[in-house]
Amino acid sequence: MLLVQKYGGTSVGDPERINRVAQRIALSIKPEHHIVVVVSAMSGETDKLLGYALHFDALPDPREVDMILSSGERVTSALLAIALQTMGYKAISLSGRNAGIYTDSQHTKAHIEYIDTTRINKLLHKGFVVIVAGFQGVNEKGDVTTLGRGGSDLSAVALAGALNADLCEIYTDVEGVFTTDPRIEPNAKKIDKISYDEMLELASMGAKVLLNRSVELAKKLGVKLITRSTFSDNPGTLITKEEDIMEQPIISGIALDKNQARVSMVEVKDQPGIASEIFGKLAEANINVDMIVQTLAYNGRTDLDFTIPKTELELAKNIFKSLDSDSFGKIEYDNDIAKVSIVGVGMKSHTGVASKVFGALAKEHINIMMISTSEIKISVLVDIKYAELSIRSLHRAFELDK
Ligand code: ADP
Ligand code: ASP
Ligand code: MG
Repeated sequence: MLLVQKYGGTSVGDPERINRVAQRIALSIKPEHHIVVVVSAMSGETDKLLGYALHFDALPDPREVDMILSSGERVTSALLAIALQTMGYKAISLSGRNAGIYTDSQHTKAHIEYIDTTRINKLLHKGFVVIVAGFQGVNEKGDVTTLGRGGSDLSAVALAGALNADLCEIYTDVEGVFTTDPRIEPNAKKIDKISYDEMLELASMGAKVLLNRSVELAKKLGVKLITRSTFSDNPGTLITKEEDIMEQPIISGIALDKNQARVSMVEVKDQPGIASEIFGKLAEANINVDMIVQTLAYNGRTDLDFTIPKTELELAKNIFKSLDSDSFGKIEYDNDIAKVSIVGVGMKSHTGVASKVFGALAKEHINIMMISTSEIKISVLVDIKYAELSIRSLHRAFELDK
């Protein structure tokens, strides 16, 4: 039996918690079990390290950022190894590079290309608990890269896939995946089983309990994925194939994303090629554009609104400077917005879901700024001051607390 366990930032938030994680791992140590552990940096550490870099430059060199950020995970991996060693177990920490995790060279948002599992396999067969620093790898030059915020989830799933693990357990600070963030809606219910696709939409729309790319990879590789709490023995949430779930609710969950910014390009020239230039340049810089709305043209000009992650705003502003200034009037930015999304495979076969969303928000006098939909999702953009109220009213309207 090969088990991959990942422990998030709060779970390893201080030396005492690292000790508790060591005790928890010890419970899984049996002669017939091989255990690979992936750890995050202690909670708050990555933000602190990033803050140091931003102190010098609003757009610091991404290669140097990776040198700095990757240290957080290395610290926790070594501390956890020491904690297990003092308890009498054979344990060793590995950086992403040591663990054979090879990525492309897109610093701060690298993609894993392949994993050379030779060293990990050797260590497992020698009876070591192998502790891998999450969130990082190495590129072809030998430089350290990081996988994007929340990337330790991806490290865990990728390792589980490469090692052909029987199970990948993501240990965090809540009991599993809930109908919405339990910190916003105390009546949120824990979900026992959820499909890969619904989890992927929820995660992509802001439910940070799992990184969207980790869910996508788990689906692709068929990794059995469980999210559960570090601080209890409850069974958590199984993320699995849609056909393995007997009863599908119409709506599975609601996600909130406060990390988007709205870009409004006013009086954009209404001619072929403009949108392709704008979005092409953003895509080249790996900036994820989400909601897009274009108004009807008037006098040969149209307004173009879209959302991008707040963290990419500085980079996007630099790109807009390179556009032909004749092709649009002005650009405005709005940081005070929130995206609220409801997700459920049942939407495919049920009508009236959208009108129920709009009705619930109207009842609270919440204005909708933008709407986007997919087969199993409806997203609306609202003023950030109504974010939590929107979540709670939709949760009630769809009776997710029942
Ligand atoms: P970790 O540090 O363990 O990776 P994260 O902070 O990244 O943990 O993710 C866990 C957090 O995700 C929870 O504390 C919770 O506030 C938040 N969250 C958002 N949406 C959900 C949801 N639908 N179910 C559970 N937790 C959620
Ligand atoms: N420490 C990194 C972050 O805060 C990666 C992770 O925790 O998954 O984003
Ligand atoms: Mg996380």
